[in-house]
Amino acid sequence: MTTTETNKRNWVALEQQYYQGTFKRYPVTLVRGEGARVWDSDGKVYLDFVAGIAVNVLGHCHPAIVEAVQHQVTQLVHVSNLYYNTRQIELAELLAGRSDGMRSFFSNSGAEANEGAIKLARKFGRMHRNGAYEIISMQNSFHGRTMATTAATGQASYQATWAPLPDGFKQVPFNDLEALKEATSAKTVAILVEPVQGEGGIWPASTEYMQGLRKWCDEQNLVLISDEVQAGMGRTGKFFSWENFGARPDIITMAKGLAGGIPIGAMLTGPRTDLFTPGDHGTTFGGNPIACAAGVATVSTIIEQNLLENAAQMGDYWGGKLTALSEKYAFIDSPRGLGLMRAVNVKNDMAPVIVQKALEHGLLLNNIGGKTLRMIPPLILTTADIDEAAGLLDQTLAEVAEQANA
Ligand SMILES: *Cc1c(COP(=O)(O)O)cnc(C)c1O
Repeated sequence: MTTTETNKRNWVALEQQYYQGTFKRYPVTLVRGEGARVWDSDGKVYLDFVAGIAVNVLGHCHPAIVEAVQHQVTQLVHVSNLYYNTRQIELAELLAGRSDGMRSFFSNSGAEANEGAIKLARKFGRMHRNGAYEIISMQNSFHGRTMATTAATGQASYQATWAPLPDGFKQVPFNDLEALKEATSAKTVAILVEPVQGEGGIWPASTEYMQGLRKWCDEQNLVLISDEVQAGMGRTGKFFSWENFGARPDIITMAKGLAGGIPIGAMLTGPRTDLFTPGDHGTTFGGNPIACAAGVATVSTIIEQNLLENAAQMGDYWGGKLTALSEKYAFIDSPRGLGLMRAVNVKNDMAPVIVQKALEHGLLLNNIGGKTLRMIPPLILTTADIDEAAGLLDQTLAEVAEQANA
């Protein structure tokens, strides 16, 4: 269909009729993307600081991903994990190169990657810690939407409706080593942490905390799991977010940006917890040749084009803009984050209003509840993109301030 034909259908009404009511959507239908920009069905352009929620790390339709997928789709679309497939092994090799030789298991999503990590930790408990099975995670965390990952997610709003949740999960306050030590018992097998909490509002751990977790896990024979689903893939300026704190985990989970927009998840383990044997775990689609080809293209491009450095530099530049805006507008404060994973607090639950106004101005932002504005743009961002975004956000905030006073 051409853009004009696409535009003829009432997508909002059709969605209501045919799609379950799981998403509160903006009344915008996105049909095309290129770099850091997307276009809607009316041809309006937006600068994309949401990037599929930290997924489109190379921006939209990056030539490396387009070529990799186009080529792979003509060679082999899918093959069972009963057989070897070259793209899967290539991606695992690349990830081993970034993680001191950790071995991979590929799934299709972040929740599934965490499910694999939970199972692996429990196997470790059976084999090496007298059957210990409990996983301690953090308040305000997010680990996914399956039942086990919901049980691990430390936010009441995600859990309330779904009881009874699987047993063996407990949450303690984030960045509080004493609370974690007190919560540890003979039943505890693993600690699951986001080194930078994403859905919780972009809250980085402290270095002492992360190193304290590593030390505690060594002393108590526990497994340290780093959920890198959102903060990994270079977003914080390091390939894995734990690298900012120097506390190497036993297990790493990844997803979102790993294949630049093609669905994939990964669970990596070091030798201490490399315990799965045939039959323990599996997947039909996980490690699919197309997803892995896109993953190889994405990881290679990040490395070859120095996008880690770019994320760090552009992150600092954008962080400076956010600091300036929070000084200019009284209802914005606490600019924070690492690399291109940033947020500010918003007073009076005005975050959704700001996101809506920004969208009208051609800038896509994300709010977490009423009080947090989150920005997780592509790692290919340039200073010109940031100058433009800062201008659009400034205009947006000026209008919101005026309306609030009126
Ligand atoms: C998004 C996210 C998940 C869940 O990933 P899905 O692909 O949506 O299942 C898990 N952990 C973190 C930190 C995330 O940001």
